[in-house]
Parts: sequence; C-alpha cells; structure tokens
Amino acid sequence: MAKVLIIGAGGAALSAAIAAKQSGADVTVVTKEYPTRSQTCMAQGGINAAIGADDSIEAHIEDTLKSAKGLADMKAVELMCSKAPEAIGWLDSIGVPFSRTEDGHIAQRRLGGASHSRACYAQDYTGLKILHTLYDYANKLDIEFVNERFLLDLLVENGRAYGALFLNIKTGEVEAITADSVILATGGYSKLYHSHSTNSKAATGDGIAAAARAGAKLSNMEFVQFHPTALKSSAILISESARGAGGKLLNSKGERFVEELKPRDEVSLAIYKEMQKGEDITLDITHLGEAFIEEKLPQERKLAILYEGVDPVNDPLPIKPAAHYTMGGIAVDLAMQSSIEGLYAVGECSESRVHGANRLGGNSLLEIVVFGKIAGENAVKQLNKEPLDPAKAIKTAETKLQRLFDAKPQENFYDTRAKLGDLFYTKCGIERNAKELKELLAFITDIKTNKEYFGIIDKNRAYNTNLINYLEFENLLQVAESVAKGALENETSTGAHRRSDV
Ligand SMILES: Cc1cc2nc3c(=O)[nH]c(=O)nc-3n(C[C@H](O)[C@H](O)[C@H](O)COP(=O)(O)OP(=O)(O)OC[C@H]3O[C@@H](n4cnc5c(N)ncnc54)[C@H](O)[C@@H]3O)c2cc1C
Repeated sequence: MAKVLIIGAGGAALSAAIAAKQSGADVTVVTKEYPTRSQTCMAQGGINAAIGADDSIEAHIEDTLKSAKGLADMKAVELMCSKAPEAIGWLDSIGVPFSRTEDGHIAQRRLGGASHSRACYAQDYTGLKILHTLYDYANKLDIEFVNERFLLDLLVENGRAYGALFLNIKTGEVEAITADSVILATGGYSKLYHSHSTNSKAATGDGIAAAARAGAKLSNMEFVQFHPTALKSSAILISESARGAGGKLLNSKGERFVEELKPRDEVSLAIYKEMQKGEDITLDITHLGEAFIEEKLPQERKLAILYEGVDPVNDPLPIKPAAHYTMGGIAVDLAMQSSIEGLYAVGECSESRVHGANRLGGNSLLEIVVFGKIAGENAVKQLNKEPLDPAKAIKTAETKLQRLFDAKPQENFYDTRAKLGDLFYTKCGIERNAKELKELLAFITDIKTNKEYFGIIDKNRAYNTNLINYLEFENLLQVAESVAKGALENETSTGAHRRSDV
C-alpha cells in the first residue's frame, strides 16, 4: 500500500487526502495549525460550476481564459471546468449545505468576470462549510491528522521526494515523516503584503519556499491578484457577492466610475486610479435592505461592523484594493506533479495554469476540489523502491535551529516584515516600474545580507510562536525575491498588474 504524505489541511489537502485514501493509500495529513482553521474557511463568494439551465461548460472555459489574459493553459482549464458539475454533485452528496432556490436547486450568483450566475454558495460562508464538511468526511475515512507541525524542509534524494522534516510546535523537536509520495497543499503567499492583504496570517508561502529550496520549478510568481473591495483599515475582504447582488462603487462625489462586475483586475485598477486622484472609495449596498443583507451576506455585515465600525445596512463601506490571491507557485503538470519526482503540489501553492494573469472569482475553490482529487489519485501511483534514511537531514535541521536558539538578535524582524509588506504594496502592487522594483530588491538583498542580526528572543522550545513567525519570515523573504525578480523581468502590463514605465 502506498504511503502518501500531505502537507497542509485546507480544501486542496483534504480533497487530495480523501481521493488518495479512497484509492487505497495510507494517508497522513500534516498542518501547522488545525485543519478547520485553514484559510479555505475564509472563502465567502462561492465555487463555480456551469450547472445553471442557460449556462455551459464552454462559457465557463471562455470566461476563465478571458480573465487569465491568454496565460492559462487550454487543457488545464478544460479539465477543471468540465469536472466542475461533478465536483459540486460530490460536495452536495457529502453534505455541504449549499444555499437553495425556492424550487430546491443549488442557488448560484454572478461574480465578477462571469457571463452567468455560476458561483454555488452557502450564504457567504462557502469556504467554511466546504472545509468543515471535507474534514468530517476525512475523519469518517480514518485519515490520520498530525496537527501543529511546521514544515521545515522536504526530503529529496536522487531527484525523488521521500518525505519532509517538521518542527513539532508542541515540543520544539525536529521530526521526519517519510512516504512514497508527498503532496504540498500549503496555500499561497499573499501575506507578503502584510497589512495590505485579505489573507490569513498563515499565508506565508512556506511550501513554495521549501519546494524551491529542494530544487522544484516555480512559475508566474509575480502574478498577484488584488481584490477590489477590502475594508479600508483592516484589509478584511468584502466578497464579490456584494457587488454581484447590486453593490455600487462610489467615489468621494458619490459617483460610480466603473462597471462593478468587470473582472477583478479591471475593477481594482479603476479604484486604484481614482485613489491616485485623491478620491475615497466606498462600496454601497444600503439599497439592498437589511433583510437581504442578513440572509445573503451575514458574515460580510458582521465583519464590516467589527473591523470597520460601519454597518453596511446604513452606510457605504470604505474600501481599498488588497493582495488577495497569488496566481504563481510550484509549477505542476496535469497530474499535479512538480518538476521533482514524487512531489505533487495542489491548490494555491501550485501554478496549475488555470488562472494565468488573473484568477476568475469562484475558480479557486473549484481548483482545490477538482485538482485536489487528481493529485490524490496520482500520488497513490508512486512507490518508493528503496526506503531512505532522514537521519542526516534531521541533524542538519537541528543544527540550524540550535544556531537560532544560541544567537542574540539585534533587529526586530516583525518591524522588517511589516515594512516589507508596505514596500510590496507600493512598489510591487497594481502598478509597478523598474526603478521601484530595483529599490525593493535592494531592500530584500539588504535584509538577506544582514540576516544574522535577526532572530528569536523567546528561547523556549515548546509552543514558541516567536520561532514559527521567524521561520515564516525567512520563507517570505525567499518568496519575496522570486516575486520582485519576476516582476522586474516581466515588462508586460497584463491581468493583475500594469507596468507604468514600459
Ligand atoms: C477572504 C477570502 C475569501 C475568498 N473567497 C473565495 C471564494 O469565494 N471563492 C473562491 O474560489 N476562492 C476564494 N478565496 C480563495 C480560496 O479560498 C483559496 O485560494 C483556497 O481556499 C486555498 O486553499 P488551499 O487548500 O490551497 O490552501 P489553504 O486553505 O490556505 O490551506 C493551507 C494549509 O497549509 C497549511 N500550512 C501552511 N504552511 C505550512 C507549514 N509550514 N507547515 C505545515 N502546514 C502548513 C496551513 O496550516 C493550511 O492548513 C478566498 C480567499 C480569501 C482569503
């Protein structure tokens, strides 16, 4: 029986775990937090599938390709969109409580860039309901979960992945888990933009950084999607479902300046340009009324009251674009295998060529379910002929950790991490130019050159969040360099970003 190690426990990981287990493998899922907390639970708007009477798979493919601005792969997009109706049927069958129409069909709404109402939803808790249902189902299948383990490095020998090293967060010890194949499902890197991101604090690109250190190919790293409507002070997301329901974007004069349901890149750029003129932008859903907002957008209302101090029933919401989704990641083929044998990647940490320069809203939840299953089914086919010994790799990781415990840091990496986020937002945001990208790269190089001045203050081994945050900071730095370099090299203005100097 093949042993499959899955790193991450979001929607992509759980879909892969279920498929691998059902294909006969022994499956272990490892996460740095708890499965139910994975960022997938934050998804609000919905999951795409052409199941409406007037919709078609061809229209879904066309919308996806159009939004991707020619940078998606036709075969990958066809695979994802054609399997969408089956994926929704499966989620429905295992108990995801999708919202319903009065005649009992799964309800759908229109998100930006879509030609039809195609996003299936569960109020505005879609990701949470999917994640928790997948977790319940995985538990029923007796899948093994190992929580509070932080991925340090992948175990690769002779060009083949055979497991990974983890920091046991509870004890501070280094542990190895070996397997026949490894699936990375560790999410994206939008937290590079720090306080200018809608993402959970766990979205630090750890898996991508580990894959790159192991020699895996990355792709499209400079493509970062900015969501048009994050709350102005907290960057908490107000989903596209608010605009889909009729929300209006207004400038300081109360005038509309863009068609709200255009693709995200176009709406974000329009908002950015208004803000450059000194305009304050708001999202107005007051005309939808309290009953509608409570029924369809209850989470968004709560978040707005809690984090912005504004009740959208009564007042327009102050918003700004914020880093939301990272299109780049570990390059994979149609079987979700990376450039390293036995190493698979799926979900936001991968670049599966379905989003290109701009992801279509509702396609990420779809990708994690459809491609998660494909990753799980393919990973099972790998069998490691000669078992390898991780002892040497464990020793190297322990020595590195010990150095951190012994050092006396002089600089506060939390401040540097926040500054890096501010610089990314201003210099590698919706609009970029070579001069500012070179300044950003110089800042990154400077941090890397002076890395010995950074480190941990808390020297406890057990539950050391200072250490975890530091390891995340190291991963972010590594990812930062790929993103900034990619942005400098890419002189085209397409999808999520514009080059102002070319
Ligand atoms: C606010 C918000 C709203 C969204 N709304 C929608 C929507 O409506 N529709 C849509 O299609 N998409 C939406 N998205 C995007 C979508 O939710 C994500 O792209 C998708 O859920 C990513 O799933 P994933 O399984 O790849 O990663 P995640 O759900 O991010 O899971 C990553 C997992 O990896 C683990 N991990 C990370 N690093 C390590 C490490 N070092 N060691 C061990 N484990 C690690 C984490 O703990 C976690 O379990 C939204 C995103 C956000 C932030």
